[in-house]
Formats: sequence, structure tokens, C-alpha cells
Amino acid sequence: MSAAHVAPVAPLHVDGRLEHGAEHPRIDRPRAERAIGDLLLALGRDIGDEGLRETPRRVAAAFEELLTHEPVSLTTFPNEAGYDELVVVKAIPFHSLCMHHLLPFHGVAHVAYLPGERIIGLSKLARVVELFARDLQLQERLTMQVADCLESHLRPKGVGVVIEAEHMCMSLRGVHKPGTRTTTSTLRGLLRDDARTRSEFLALATG
Ligand code: ZN
Repeated sequence: MSAAHVAPVAPLHVDGRLEHGAEHPRIDRPRAERAIGDLLLALGRDIGDEGLRETPRRVAAAFEELLTHEPVSLTTFPNEAGYDELVVVKAIPFHSLCMHHLLPFHGVAHVAYLPGERIIGLSKLARVVELFARDLQLQERLTMQVADCLESHLRPKGVGVVIEAEHMCMSLRGVHKPGTRTTTSTLRGLLRDDARTRSEFLALATG
């Protein structure tokens, strides 16, 4: 591995590892519980009601769980075998919360990269999806963040991310179209610029 190619990306990349997730905002549980109690009052509910008494605590705990992920340590390895074909992990299930409505959206992500000097454990591609999904999100932003993370830390020759998801804010309210799936994609490097690689990925991901 030539040092010239290891541009300064993340400080922790030096020994082939990187840590992520320290930037998640801290959740103030007591404040969230008070706010949910206020929301129930604003919705005209009696928060002394037997069935609602524990709701602020439960809802705050649920949000905390939905917005928290395990610390992720993404170890990369030298690509000693010189593998130079696509690595594709299909149908990684995920769930997230729409930042516009605080309602869930969920679906699958297809993630691919074309290795450069380093490779990464396959399960780590799923961890990267989870890392960014456990946030208040937009599907477009999630798609780009997964691609950006892999691009900056793995320095592959190309990255492709396709996400298909159903949004509760579309299924249960608004346009009321249950079953509608939204597809987003981000292609970088040779997955964007090389027609053969791009169509190979899209065929593998969506086929
Ligand atoms: Zn929404």
C-alpha cells in the first residue's frame, strides 16, 4: 500500500480502523417525557388516564431506541488478492424516522463498492446503513451519507447505494398510498462513470 494514496480522511483510519457515531446528539430523556406529556395534553388527552400514564416514558424510550445505534468500528483490510470486481450486499433491512413527520420509513438498502487498495468486512456495509438510518432522516440524505462514508473511509474505485423504502407518512396520511415504495440511488466513481459497471450494479441490486 503506498502512503501517497492514504490521504488524510479520518484520523482513526491510519491503522485501518475507523470509529463513527460520536457525533450523534445526546437525548434528554426527562425533557422528552415532559414534551410527550405536553403533546398528549395538546391533543386533548387526559394524561391521568390509566392507559396513558406510562405513555410519555414509553414513547421517550422508543424514540431513544430508534435514534441510537451501537458504536461502529469499521475495520478495513489491505486488498492483498487484488480483487477488482464489484462487491454487492443486497437487501439490507433498515428502519429510520422521517425528519419531516417523525414517522417511520423502512425498507432495504443495496450497497456496493468496487475495491481499491482496501476492502471491508461484508457485515460492516450493513452497519454503515444502520449507523445513518438511526437518525431523523430523509431517504435521499441517508442514501448519500452511506455512499459518502464508504467513499471517504474506504477509498474505493466506486460506490453504489440504492435504497427502496415505504414511508408511513405516505401510507397512513397525506396521499394514503399503502405499499408505495420510493427508490433513491447514489453512484460514485466508476459506478457512476463506467456504463458497464453501473448497469452491472443496478441489475444486481434491483434484479
Ligand atoms: Zn415524512
